[in-house]
Amino acid sequence: MTGSATRTTPEREAAVHLQTYARQPITLVAGRGCWVRDEAGREYLDFVGGLAVNVLGHAHPAVTDALAAQAATLVQVSNLYYTRPQVELAEALVARSPFDRAFFTNSGTEANEAAIKLARRHGRERGAGEIVALEGSFHGRTLGSLAATGQPKYREPFAPLPPGFRFVARNDAAALEAAVEERTCAVLLEPIQGEGGVHPLDDAFLIAARSACERVGALLILDEIQTGIGRTGRFFAFEHTPVIPDAVTVAKGLAGGVPIGALLVREAAAAFQVGDHGTTLGGNPLSCAAALATLRVLDDERLIEAAADRGAQLAAALGELVNDGLATEVRGRGLMVGLETARPLAREAVAAARDDEALLVNATGPTTIRLLPPLVVSAGEIDEAVRRLRRALDSASRAVA
Ligand SMILES: *Cc1c(COP(=O)(O)O)cnc(C)c1O
Repeated sequence: MTGSATRTTPEREAAVHLQTYARQPITLVAGRGCWVRDEAGREYLDFVGGLAVNVLGHAHPAVTDALAAQAATLVQVSNLYYTRPQVELAEALVARSPFDRAFFTNSGTEANEAAIKLARRHGRERGAGEIVALEGSFHGRTLGSLAATGQPKYREPFAPLPPGFRFVARNDAAALEAAVEERTCAVLLEPIQGEGGVHPLDDAFLIAARSACERVGALLILDEIQTGIGRTGRFFAFEHTPVIPDAVTVAKGLAGGVPIGALLVREAAAAFQVGDHGTTLGGNPLSCAAALATLRVLDDERLIEAAADRGAQLAAALGELVNDGLATEVRGRGLMVGLETARPLAREAVAAARDDEALLVNATGPTTIRLLPPLVVSAGEIDEAVRRLRRALDSASRAVA
């Protein structure tokens, strides 16, 4: 019991937490809307948004009230029993999508685990168990999702990974068509690769994936854990494309900050039998009540349309940084945006934004800055964030020169 009063929170963490996160050196204690406050009382403009999670910003009263009411009523009973919030959430997701059934998890990676198991179950009768995924993808940190993640830095320390995954290059339709064979049970894709650096897939590539899956009877599964729940200006990112998948995974934004994930499937893909899959806490009344409140506010405040409008504004403002030579490219859709820099200064720019400008943004690699603001972000906050980012890029480019 020594010294919690004299040591900083990062010092205390370093002593007791596994050292697996390269954390930013601030401790956040409160938030409201697009703003968060640290222990010292400094207010930051938050364009990370809990990593694409806080679609309603921080402390939205609809989520706070739903959580308080559900917490005072029933938090958890397990999936041995029916609960109304879980059924209502499944109904709400089915009603607004081409999917017929839902399965709820506690996280994104678990939603992908469920999708991988579903694909194997679906392919079992015809002896198909292989999954085709993409180089540069990110599907989560558990072993199945990691086996589907096409980035050596995440995979290599944890070999051997589960077998039955192969990878093709993003947007290489010919390679994808060649990789999908009789033994393929699914193609798993992010419509816009997120952790891989905000790289959208071409419509032509998605169409090729759809028809390759149909050719062999495999499932097209989209990982919309980052792109879903309005982030790109539509509820699902695939709604911008001509393609409808057989299944989709969502998580991050679904419950406005409370842990949840979901696998949504069309009836023809709903291959699970009783006993095939399960979770103790997944879809519990607390997380489902938060998700129902989040979906209600997305509609009532027209936040999906707002994500499209604010996203266009953000892309245009960032385009000015490109015109002025501070960046080379703007990628993404809606409020999922990547800004590419000519030189590897993304980490320095993130630090300058945080320390000098009180703006939170995230680097996905040495040359990519990612912006994922809450969907409640105002036009004024977008302009303010880009002004701050411009100064941070300017000072980072002088420091790295
Ligand atoms: C964040 C993310 C995941 C993993 O979600 P967790 O909740 O961190 O397990 C999987 N896929 C994509 C596309 C993601 O962005």
